[in-house]
Amino acid sequence: MPLLDTIPAGGPALAQERRLVTPLPGPRSAEILARKTDAVPAGVAHTVPIAAVAAGGGIVVDADGNSLIDLGSGIAVTSVGNAHPKVAAAVAAQAAQFTHTCFMISPYESYIEVAEALNRLTPGGFAKKTALFNSGAEAVENAIKIARKHTGRQAVVAFEHGYHGRTNLTMALTAKAMPYKSGFGPFAPEVYRAPLSYPFRDGLSGADAATRAITQIEKQVGAENLAAVIIEPIQGEGGFIVPADGFLPALAEWCRANGVVFIADEVQTGFARTGTMFASEQFGIEPDLVTTAKGIAAGLPLAAVTGRAEIMDAAHAGGLGGTYGGNPIACAAALAAIDVFENDGMVERAQQIGALLRERLNALAAADSRIGDVRGRGAMTAIEFVDPATKAPDAALAGAVAKACIAEGVIVLTCGTFGNVIRFLPPLSIGDELLNEGLDVVAGALAAV
Ligand SMILES: *Cc1c(COP(=O)(O)O)cnc(C)c1O
Repeated sequence: MPLLDTIPAGGPALAQERRLVTPLPGPRSAEILARKTDAVPAGVAHTVPIAAVAAGGGIVVDADGNSLIDLGSGIAVTSVGNAHPKVAAAVAAQAAQFTHTCFMISPYESYIEVAEALNRLTPGGFAKKTALFNSGAEAVENAIKIARKHTGRQAVVAFEHGYHGRTNLTMALTAKAMPYKSGFGPFAPEVYRAPLSYPFRDGLSGADAATRAITQIEKQVGAENLAAVIIEPIQGEGGFIVPADGFLPALAEWCRANGVVFIADEVQTGFARTGTMFASEQFGIEPDLVTTAKGIAAGLPLAAVTGRAEIMDAAHAGGLGGTYGGNPIACAAALAAIDVFENDGMVERAQQIGALLRERLNALAAADSRIGDVRGRGAMTAIEFVDPATKAPDAALAGAVAKACIAEGVIVLTCGTFGNVIRFLPPLSIGDELLNEGLDVVAGALAAV
């Protein structure tokens, strides 16, 4: 029996309050999750023990009527807010018009409009083109295809702590074995890993970390064999690692000098999340190619590769595409979301959220030496838990704090190669009051474990 008489409509009209009416999961969610266990393979795991029925602003409501504060945005996806009215209206209108023609068969204007918007918004004053796909991993795969065709070379360098997806090539690019790769090999060949800049742990300047990486690439791969270097400007799943100043520009400069395509994977950092439209802007780099997904279409499956026109045009006609890539409903959602990002102050809101997160988390860290580092940019900020004496990663503590927060009705996500980071990715539609309440719960959870 559902405890909810009626399921509330999502979007900003949803009551912006944390309210638990049952322990989690409540009976109705428990019933649905038991069916999940029977019907869905164990490999598709979940961290919050609820069945969601509505979401909006900074709230997720479950099937029992519990309201949880959302500090994860479904992994940095619902940045403009869940069920945003402009997105919902655009999706409904497009669904009534036509749902699919296949852009490779009968093209339509909205795909081209999304491409034009991305060509305009991504960093770099040069001529650009954009191809659309369905997921971040698919965008990364295609960026590598394009770079290989353009250069006539095969090797690709990715970085320590990098995350690029779960397909075969993107598993090869991803650094972390468990849970992303273990048992799923063999992986795509000609993928090499270089050391990152991780200031909290390596203490290197950006220039020194870049020299270390470039020397390794030159000696172990050889510039003449290298098609592309792919890197997240801030590592997402790897632990919100912000490289030291100068690291990314030095890498980009070396790529340019050696005819290597520099790919910024902005799937998690893109679309206002870090307090600029794209994180690359904050590091002073103009990538040759940029991959985007997550925040692009408010939850509809869409992804893109945007980059220098002459590189993007390297692939022959018919070499890029896919049945659903740039689906018209996803494009309608993206155009509505991009309108919100550009015209409803989302970049400024991400900066405000970042300032609030910084202030609260710095205060927490000052009072608790188990928080070794507070880092990130804008509404993509994290805390790394360590043993105060040795700086050894403390994954058990991060896990226990996250679990306690969720039980109290605050959705937080962990990340990091060592699993010892809690990351904050609130929707940019969250209010300060709710955000502060969520952080109060985090502080309480930390004090209690
Ligand atoms: C999530 C993510 C991906 C993969 O995107 P999917 O849509 O899950 O395939 C790739 N790169 C980065 C940086 C990501 O955060």
